[in-house]
Amino acid sequence: MWFGVVTLFPEMFAALDCGITGRSIKTELLQLGLWNPRDYAHNKHHTVDDRPYGGGPGMIMMVEPLQAAIQAAKQAAPKKPVVVHLSPQGKHFNQETATAFLSKESIVLIAGRYEGIDERLLELEVDEEWSIGDYILSGGELAAMTMIDVTTRLIPGALGHEDSVSQDSLSSGLLKYPQYTRPESYAELTVPNVLLSGNHQAIERWRLKQALGKTWLRRPDLLAKQSLDEFQQRLLAEFIQEQKK
Ligand code: SAM
Repeated sequence: MWFGVVTLFPEMFAALDCGITGRSIKTELLQLGLWNPRDYAHNKHHTVDDRPYGGGPGMIMMVEPLQAAIQAAKQAAPKKPVVVHLSPQGKHFNQETATAFLSKESIVLIAGRYEGIDERLLELEVDEEWSIGDYILSGGELAAMTMIDVTTRLIPGALGHEDSVSQDSLSSGLLKYPQYTRPESYAELTVPNVLLSGNHQAIERWRLKQALGKTWLRRPDLLAKQSLDEFQQRLLAEFIQEQKK
């Protein structure tokens, strides 16, 4: 998977050198290129921003250096890339979007700064706009890193244990069941007996029931999208009954 990021703060992406993304960069499952619009600002002070026409607060990223940086990134892509602008005005990025990103293989991400980018850039270069949530970041870098991290987890071989992806919350459309590790008892709280039983069928049943129940409690919107089979409906009914006790 190839990501080219257009950013005024390429140094922030050192954070991706850690953990799963770092390992994926080393093994070249993930390839990351960074382009700084400042390197393409061929004016006296390498200026990349200017005041908004019509007045108002803050500065706007100028179209010329940004477009030149995007075009340089596009040229370096191994496959014709999709160009994505990170914006609070975009559609909400989620697990499904990450799966779609993975299938595209090459993506250029544009991280805005200041009050955002000159609108004409959207018409000239941008294919899609994605947001990571209904709040305003100071810049698109953290959004870009979020999308890169989420997508990297889906690259076959990126995680140590292949089952991890399919067992993650949301991958199956459900939240993940509760998890425990040693010690068996802590602050008078003990690990559920079934997990110590060694009975794999019972453990699977318990986990599915907990995943259904947790999703029912916390994310009924997700559960509404699922068509539960008879067994799953029975487990959920059991969970709900247990809640009433
Ligand atoms: N004035 C802009 C607006 O109201 O739409 C927000 C500008 S914000 C301070 C600077 C940059 O951060 C944006 O251009 C965008 O690239 C990025 N950004 C901010 N919030 C974001 C979000 N929720 N998702 C993705 N990118 C975001």
